[in-house]
Amino acid sequence: MKMIGEGSPKEETMPDLIEVVAWTCATNTCFEKKVTGSLGDTYMVRFARLYGRELERQGVQYGWTCTCKGFEFRGTCRHINATRKSRCGWNGVLEPTAQCEHDDEGRPCCPDCHGPVEPIKVGV
Ligand SMILES: [Zn+2]
Ligand SMILES: [Zn+2]
Repeated sequence: MKMIGEGSPKEETMPDLIEVVAWTCATNTCFEKKVTGSLGDTYMVRFARLYGRELERQGVQYGWTCTCKGFEFRGTCRHINATRKSRCGWNGVLEPTAQCEHDDEGRPCCPDCHGPVEPIKVGV
């Protein structure tokens, strides 16, 4: 048997930031819905990671976009407003008391919409 020496400096190598994994509903990173406009035309409303011009315009990592002209022009539109409510958006970081659930096959799923969840790393 090997003795472990006292006062070993092992603990000093521990990182200051501990990362824990939290679950969020997959609709927080990607959500799409096709909507039909008043003239029967269809648009794609998305909540997803923003890039380029939209990232600059909205100033957030994740946000709403729509393929219609109104959105292009104003940065928002009624399609987005109408779709906003149907997105689950459950976030285990903001609601630590609500644990993610598991489906029949033991995969984690969202407690609100029972859809897929994604792990995110949070520094504590
Ligand atoms: Zn639109
Ligand atoms: Zn959900």
